[in-house]
Amino acid sequence: MGFWWRPLSVLAGVLLVALILWAGSGWVAALGFLAGVQAFVMLRRLWQEFRLARWLENPDEVEPPDATGTWGDIFYRLQKLQRRQKASRGQLTSALEQFEHAAMAVPDGMVILNRSEQIEWCNPASRTYMGLDCERDRGQFIRYLLRQAQFLDFLDAADYSRRLVCKSPVNRELILSLQLVPFGESQKLLVARDITDLERVDAMRRDFIANVSHELRTPLTVVGGFVETLADAPDLPAAESRHYFDLMLDHTRRMQHLLDDLLTLSRLESADHTLKDELVNVPELAQALKAEAESLSRGRHRVSLQCQSEACLKGSLQEIRSALGNLVSNAVRYTPEGGEITLAWRERNGEGVFSVIDTGEGIAAEHIPRLTERFYRVDRSRSRETGGTGLGLAIVKHVLTRHGARLEIQSVPGKGSTFSAVFPAQRLQLPGAQKSGTVIPFPEREQAVG
Ligand code: ADP
Repeated sequence: MGFWWRPLSVLAGVLLVALILWAGSGWVAALGFLAGVQAFVMLRRLWQEFRLARWLENPDEVEPPDATGTWGDIFYRLQKLQRRQKASRGQLTSALEQFEHAAMAVPDGMVILNRSEQIEWCNPASRTYMGLDCERDRGQFIRYLLRQAQFLDFLDAADYSRRLVCKSPVNRELILSLQLVPFGESQKLLVARDITDLERVDAMRRDFIANVSHELRTPLTVVGGFVETLADAPDLPAAESRHYFDLMLDHTRRMQHLLDDLLTLSRLESADHTLKDELVNVPELAQALKAEAESLSRGRHRVSLQCQSEACLKGSLQEIRSALGNLVSNAVRYTPEGGEITLAWRERNGEGVFSVIDTGEGIAAEHIPRLTERFYRVDRSRSRETGGTGLGLAIVKHVLTRHGARLEIQSVPGKGSTFSAVFPAQRLQLPGAQKSGTVIPFPEREQAVG
């Protein structure tokens, strides 16, 4: 009713005036008045229509027309509509901008393809992974840019549940997982994800399982064979069966060592295995390790100790002992009879250095960077003969990394090797300094720590 009230009341007023004129001055005057009003209304309407058209042509720049009455109402409502539209356009623009920024920042490569597989848009990561450029390649057919046969088959198959794993066409080191996602009206989103690290971890896992199986297979086959022999020939002479039992024991121990080392590695790798905060008396530990070396060597080597520092180490006694023990055991196992093994503990530029020096067979330079890899051996049969599992230096590396320390290896083939565990200054506790933990001597307290 709000809209109709004003025009109806004006119409009523005009008719009333016309009636009064008719009554007073006759019908000619009344008709003349009505014609005048009609002409005025028409001219006003034309003027307002002209103002409206001029404003609608450029509503953002031209001021909205100002009027009273019905036209004022119309202008006011149009202006309100325009403001609302402007606000929602602004919101839409900023949402679009945000989407574009997010898509630009996504680490995966993203390409939007139209129904003819032409590129409509792509993000910067698609340049790194697929060599595409949003400006240069817009409108290009993706088939002409990425021409590998397996990619073309993947496009043709249009199987949206499938992912294609392939090498990046611009960097053969990168392994990509490509996926097509349909959307809108026959459009497609091509997503390229870098899965190089995942693939590497997967390959490592496969290698690891293959290695463990391989390591276990030999002793298991040997033990199984002897058990069969003993079962088939129960009357074997005592000396012969004793020999078989000794060999079985030997192989069983080897499996036991392997499992022990695997468990140690998995414990070191588990996230909830926190590092103990003990104070390890290294000079005492070095003495114990020397005794251990002598016992392993059984008089075949000369073993000596050079303890030039009184410093203790902050960390886990059990882990440090296991790491340094592995270095000592390697020195004994890879040094021929008559050789020399020296254990040394000293400070160098504020760092603590524990070295195991041997005059053994040494290692060729090309093997040194790979020695801490699991199951890496320079000479597989030599390692097996001496009871090695191929995991010793991997354990050493893990323990040292957990202590912020590093392993330094120097070796000259035919002359010998030096394996040094280098601990950072903050792990050292010098005698007389404020003690932050209990000094754990060695070996009396080992049981309590383990
Ligand atoms: P393993 O159980 O085979 O000894 P490690 O991980 O302890 O395994 O050592 C890896 C390889 O490094 C060994 O197989 C051996 O070839 C080499 N190696 C380690 N220590 C020495 C050393 N002191 N002298 C010569 N070679 C060594």
